[in-house]
Amino acid sequence: MYIIAAIAVLYRHRSERPPAIMTVTRALLFMAMGHVLLTSPPGQGGDLAQAAGQWFMSISYYFVLKGVYRLTIEEPMRGKQLAEAQMKHMAYHDDLTGLPNLRQMKEQLGELLAFSQACTGVAVINIDRFKAINDSLGYSAGDKLLTELGSRLSALGGTQRRVYRMGEDEFAVIFPELPDDAAAEERAKELLASVDPAVLIDDTEYHISLSMGLSVFPDDGDSVNQMIQYADMAVHHAKEQGVDFMRYHAAMKQRTQSKVELENDMRKALEREEFFLEFQPQISLNTGKMVGMEALVRWNHPKRGLLPPSEFIPLAEESGLIVPLGEWVLKTACLHNKKWQLDGFEPVCVSVNLSMRQFRQYNLAEHVDAILREVGLDPRYLELEVTESMTYDIETALDQLHRLKRLGIHISIDDFGTGYSSLYYLKSLPIDRLKIDRAFVKEVMYDGNDAAIVSTITTMAHHLKLKVTAEGVENEEQLEFLKLQRCHEGQGYLFSKPVPAGVLESEFLSRLAG
Ligand code: C2E
Ligand code: CA
Ligand code: CA
Repeated sequence: MYIIAAIAVLYRHRSERPPAIMTVTRALLFMAMGHVLLTSPPGQGGDLAQAAGQWFMSISYYFVLKGVYRLTIEEPMRGKQLAEAQMKHMAYHDDLTGLPNLRQMKEQLGELLAFSQACTGVAVINIDRFKAINDSLGYSAGDKLLTELGSRLSALGGTQRRVYRMGEDEFAVIFPELPDDAAAEERAKELLASVDPAVLIDDTEYHISLSMGLSVFPDDGDSVNQMIQYADMAVHHAKEQGVDFMRYHAAMKQRTQSKVELENDMRKALEREEFFLEFQPQISLNTGKMVGMEALVRWNHPKRGLLPPSEFIPLAEESGLIVPLGEWVLKTACLHNKKWQLDGFEPVCVSVNLSMRQFRQYNLAEHVDAILREVGLDPRYLELEVTESMTYDIETALDQLHRLKRLGIHISIDDFGTGYSSLYYLKSLPIDRLKIDRAFVKEVMYDGNDAAIVSTITTMAHHLKLKVTAEGVENEEQLEFLKLQRCHEGQGYLFSKPVPAGVLESEFLSRLAG
């Protein structure tokens, strides 16, 4: 009776395909039943019991064979297939967002281009200032933003569009089966406009903006790689131009090529001594005397002439060349300053800009120390300018700043007011000075908000016992306003543009003593 009940239980979940071990258990149960029946004492119904026993034994052999087959062949195969399916999923999807990845995009786009005669749009979407968000709010905030955007895009995708994560802060969308180019542009812009820009991260709402580049098959290119590369080029041009959408056009390819050339030129420029420094005086608003100067790099390009930093610093940062270039600037600025001191001029501090990439070097303080020692410059005559984005990781930033401060140098926060830094951290940072970004100073007489920002920054700096320098002082009205705010120092065209070392010496240093 019990055995029959057990068999019934074993059969209850038939539809779920039990594991092989159940088949073996069944075999044993049937075998036990058969055995009981075959060995039961002959008597009334003995023949029937014998026949049933034989029947149970046969069934048990069947299950033994089936169990052995499933244990040795079927289940290992199924495990392998499962693992393969998992591997395939991983290979074709992005870990963080779960969206199909670039590999899958390439394959699907390849099929589309091969089998469809219709227009196909390829859009690449990039999050503006993602690096700043990542730097100042942390990587986990960045991850949340990417995941949220990924799910928003795929919700907007529908069946007509396919959404992919291309890597870092880039997503891609394929718009298949379109009648013409205009339709591709229309769909792409429509999608961009319908992404909700408000994102909630750790209970705070942030507004993000996106840039999109579009390439259209067959007009712009005919291979998968071309289509993706051109859409990518278009999005980077959109960012450079400060617009949110751009369709690829052939001139972009040339511009990208010239960027590559510029990067190659820059690699050689250090050895060929094509860089030089200009210095911009920093003036005490109280006394009108020069109290410091900022070193600003320039590039004398052999073919393109004099290049301002805006034309090559971003590229140097992108390529990592900023590290050797920045070190050259630091050393050269220190050398100039030391020479002026040796020549008998009144000692002043030289400020040197430090890019984020340099700031993140773990042995930065040792490098700075080595340069100061080699040049023989007293550390109190060097100031390093860092930007607010250093607070991306407050622990590391604090550690780095303390190590630099221990050398005896000064530290200022450049372009203050434009970043995401938290005022809360400000009081704990070992810094000496805030440099108010020139965008606020520029509008101080016309825009009440900018005047309030300048006034707030100076008041706060006084409370925190920090010095304040206003950048971009261009006229007397701004100067008067800044004096009223008790801003300590000013830098700008009103006092002087950045000038070559010789001019700084003859026009400013030589007049200091008097
Ligand atoms: P920054 O550090 O904010 O430097 C001040 C910039 O403002 C300089 O531009 C200067 O010429 C300009 N400026 C000064 N006074 C005025 C003014 O009254 N009105 C206006 N409109 N502009 C004024 P520059 O030399 O073109 O440098 C631009 C940026 O390039 C710098 O901004 C800095 O971020 C970067 N840079 C320059 N040299 C270096 C360097 O050696 N290393 C690094 N990492 N960055 C550098
Ligand atoms: Ca600066
Ligand atoms: Ca600045």
